[in-house]
Amino acid sequence: MRILNNPAIIIRHLNYGEADRIVTFFTRDHGLLKGFARGARKSRKRFGAALEPFSEARLYWTEPTGDGLAALKEAELTDLHLGLRQDLDIISLASYACELVEGLIGEGHPHPEAFDLLKALLDHLNHNEPTWEARLLFEIRLITLAGYAPHFLHCSKCGITFSDRGIFFEAELGGSLCPQCLPGRKVLSVSLLTLGSLARSLQTPLTLFEGFRFSSQTTREAHAILEQILSLHLLHPLKSLSLLDRSMPLPSA
Ligand SMILES: [Zn+2]
Repeated sequence: MRILNNPAIIIRHLNYGEADRIVTFFTRDHGLLKGFARGARKSRKRFGAALEPFSEARLYWTEPTGDGLAALKEAELTDLHLGLRQDLDIISLASYACELVEGLIGEGHPHPEAFDLLKALLDHLNHNEPTWEARLLFEIRLITLAGYAPHFLHCSKCGITFSDRGIFFEAELGGSLCPQCLPGRKVLSVSLLTLGSLARSLQTPLTLFEGFRFSSQTTREAHAILEQILSLHLLHPLKSLSLLDRSMPLPSA
């Protein structure tokens, strides 16, 4: 059996039986995989701490068999990301980011850029406080990489470019809307400033999380916009979200 290897980030793990572990991991070139790590809890020699969630490691595995599980053979730890394990608020954001990758990218879709994005966020959280800016940047970039970017700066129905007030957003209808193209129901009202911030943040390097500052209004509106897009494309609500909502309340208006 051919042994594959690749840089990977551990998304989560599940104890199995007496000594084994089922690990969900996101590789740079093979996408999201699930692997069976035999004896991972008994003998720390083969895997060490490399299979802990948020760890970055080079993993060695054989291709998935009938049960859909790769057989994990070996792991070389690259970065344990120890810094982000010390703080529950940081853990909340890191867990959310990992679950979001799982939900938006899914299994069987190699996506090196999404890997680089998740790695960059974990590296950032290893040394920095969790911020709304980091969360929003991660969300909008991942949404775009997954192919779900909405129309921001022009009406998604008639194509008119926005210049001032009277802008709305409805993810189901493709994104921003002008007053003439509104559906016959209540939709989110947003400012050009927020749409501009979101559009501009997509022009910045994928892996850059430092040096951004969003006002509380931009944060609130951007969150409402991205939440709409995410709930449209995620098949089920994310488990990590309730903890994240508690640890990271929205800034007041
Ligand atoms: Zn329009």
